[in-house]
Amino acid sequence: MSHHDVIIIGAGAAGLMCAIEAGKRGRRVLVLDHSNKPGKKILLSGGGRCNFTNRHASPANFLSNNPHFCISALKRYSQHDFEAMVQRYKIPYHEKTLGQLFCDDSAKDILNMLLTECEKANVEIKLSTHIETIEKREQFYLTTSQGKVTSDSLVIATGGLSFPTMGASPFGYKVAEQFGLNVLPVRAGLVPLTLHEKDLEKLAALSGVSQEVIATSSNKDFSEAMLFTHRGLSGPAILQISSYWQPGTWIHINLLPHLNVVDYLQEKQISRPKVELKTLLGELLSKRLAEILCEHWLLNKPINQYTHKELNDVVAALENWPIQPNGTEGYRTAEVTLGGVDTNEISSKTFESKKVPGLFFIGEVLDVTGHLGGFNFQWAWSSGFCCGQFT
Ligand SMILES: Cc1cc2nc3c(=O)[nH]c(=O)nc-3n(C[C@H](O)[C@H](O)[C@H](O)COP(=O)(O)OP(=O)(O)OC[C@H]3O[C@@H](n4cnc5c(N)ncnc54)[C@H](O)[C@@H]3O)c2cc1C
Repeated sequence: MSHHDVIIIGAGAAGLMCAIEAGKRGRRVLVLDHSNKPGKKILLSGGGRCNFTNRHASPANFLSNNPHFCISALKRYSQHDFEAMVQRYKIPYHEKTLGQLFCDDSAKDILNMLLTECEKANVEIKLSTHIETIEKREQFYLTTSQGKVTSDSLVIATGGLSFPTMGASPFGYKVAEQFGLNVLPVRAGLVPLTLHEKDLEKLAALSGVSQEVIATSSNKDFSEAMLFTHRGLSGPAILQISSYWQPGTWIHINLLPHLNVVDYLQEKQISRPKVELKTLLGELLSKRLAEILCEHWLLNKPINQYTHKELNDVVAALENWPIQPNGTEGYRTAEVTLGGVDTNEISSKTFESKKVPGLFFIGEVLDVTGHLGGFNFQWAWSSGFCCGQFT
């Protein structure tokens, strides 16, 4: 039986960051993962280029039952700290849009940087290791598929449930429950929304069409692109709003957010009176989208034939197009898991359980979920870094 100062379960973004920091403090660190490779989600992320942080990250970019929980860690290890590490490693990167930082070449650059730092800090990583039991006496006793190990500190960094094919499992939630910690209900976030059959039939021809919109749900709105898919709606605006959407409720889409639609159409009533609404909208939206909206949602006729009320109804429908999703694509395609280990159980300074000394939780397994755009990795880096100072 080998003993370690710190055992970290999960060789993902948060686990590796924590291992580096604990190792730098001279702690003997063992990282265990059931996957055959570390950081699989890092490699997959950002279409293989890893959106590793966001220059504008702030607590407002995170959802949690306890919105204050993330403040301290984000301050102590910010996006600028991670960007500085990427610069030290001379990894080429760029800002794509809205502060999102991506590798120029490959997500491998980020993973290799973390693994090099682990090596420098003498961190041991054991892969393809299944954890069978965890017991706490005066220290932690773990039975694994590779034998028994013990540690003074145990860090759970096993992430959420999204992308089960990449090694995601409910392990972290089960450990929390085993030790009597509250786990808040989980659901898929940053996920495409699916539509009822009747709407899918109307929208079928739009699969692949993208449109800049403002999507609104539960008093939250996002101004980004929306994509029609063969199962429903996707694209950044929809992924973002999916984290706020509640089953059974509607989302509202402003299809022409950058135009004063009333003024525009009133002007056309004078300058091009005989032109149909469908044609005018086809100059602003994709032609197919304009046609389908006019077939199913909007009254279509020459623009000079609209009464004041009819025109206002058209504008209202374009600026506030209501659609009721019937669900999400689920964990198979979700980028994150909402909910998780209740942060009220955890110290926001050390990430240690308030009930179980020596037991720590970091990263996505906690009830802290970022918006789309590099925020989830920033949470993994920030929580991993801070925890690594105290394990
Ligand atoms: C397709 C995709 C793309 C993404 N792109 C981005 C992006 O560009 N930018 C961004 O900020 N976020 C992105 N995310 C989200 C981001 O990847 C996660 O929020 C982040 O990886 C969470 O870090 P973590 O260390 O908490 O968990 P993870 O990175 O998921 O790591 C958890 C680790 O624990 C291991 N593990 C799980 N269960 C067990 C078990 N029972 N026993 C042992 N080990 C176990 C897993 O194998 C894994 O290595 C993306 C997610 C997905 C799915």
